[in-house]
Formats: sequence, structure tokens, C-alpha cells
Amino acid sequence: RENDMDEKFFQKLKENIQKYFEPHKGHGFDHTERVYNLALKISIGEDVDLDIVKSAALLHDIARVKEEENGKICHAEEGAKMAKGILSEMSFPKEKISKVCDAIMVHRYSKGLKAKTKEAEILQDADRLDALGAIIIGRVFMKSGAMKRPMHNPKIKPSKQYKSKASTSLNHFYEKILKIRPETFKTKKAKEIAKERYEFVKEFVNRFEKEWEGEL
Ligand code: FE
Repeated sequence: RENDMDEKFFQKLKENIQKYFEPHKGHGFDHTERVYNLALKISIGEDVDLDIVKSAALLHDIARVKEEENGKICHAEEGAKMAKGILSEMSFPKEKISKVCDAIMVHRYSKGLKAKTKEAEILQDADRLDALGAIIIGRVFMKSGAMKRPMHNPKIKPSKQYKSKASTSLNHFYEKILKIRPETFKTKKAKEIAKERYEFVKEFVNRFEKEWEGEL
């Protein structure tokens, strides 16, 4: 596929969007950079437009802070709107802008929206991959610290339903992280990475519980 934009463009785009991110929130710019790198990795061997993949990855969470400040805003919808403005201003090819916006609009997997293009599937996959593995373990415990939530309490069982405010760190793994099943990823490469990361998280949770009980 044709790529119109060079590295300089994406460098500039990264600079232009810094102001929308806050470093100490769960979705700081570091998350965006990981999603960007993962999206590039899983694009290898896929028939995709990298201009769309890269722009969508960089812009997908630009409205997160807005959503955190105003619960009525959906960061996927608002992010798509903002992306349209930013890309138009930077003379990004018009015919690709709507595809970037569509990918951002549906990236929120928990809303159950279906990705209609390969580029949108790659964004969903990359975003969900960042919710599995070593970094998410770190993030879960960081968030628990900020919320003053205990790491673990065997007396409090995980609930069947996902709650945004989990009772303990360990319960969050059962209620959310371990529900991100590798077979639900769309692309072949993402499935492979997901499988490996999933097993790692599972192993961590198992060990944690065994150490807690003095079995290891
Ligand atoms: Fe994201």
C-alpha cells in the first residue's frame, strides 16, 4: 500500500498531541507509544495502510483526559472528532482521515463495536495487548496504591461482573485482565503475543496466591 507520510510527519504529530496527555494517569503518553509500537509490529505481513495505522495509534486516546474530567464524554467518539481536526490541520490525506477516525471510534473493545477495516482491527489488538503482560501488572498495583486498595484479601472473592473499582489488586486480574482471552484477538501476530502475555499474567497470579499462603 501507498504510504504518503514520512517519519517527520509522525514526529511532528507526536509533538502536537503531547498536551492532551498527563503523565501520572493510567493512560499517559507511554501507553500511546507502546500501542504505536505494537501496532507497527502486528502490521508486519498484513495488507494495511501504515499512515492510517500509525495515526490511529497515536491519536486513539487523546480524549482520555477529557473523559476522566467529564464522565459524559466517550473518549473514542470525542477522540475521533479531535483527530479529524488535528489531521486536517496537518494536511494529512483527506481520504485517509475518515479511516483513522473510524478506527478510533471503534477501538473501545468493551463497547462491543466491530472493527470494519484491518487498520481498525490492528488498533484494537494493539490497545488490548497493552492490557496484558508485565506492564499491566505494574499498572494494576500502581493504581491500587493511588486508590489505597489492598493488594489481596483472600476473604474478598472476585465478582463475576467487571467493576471499574475492583476490591483488591488481585481481584482486578480475575475481573478484567484474565478475561482478555488470546483467542479474541483478530490478527495472527497479536494472538501469538497475547497468548504469551496471558500465560505470564496467569503464572504471576498463581505464584502470588501461593506465596501469600506460604506454599512457595
Ligand atoms: Fe488505549
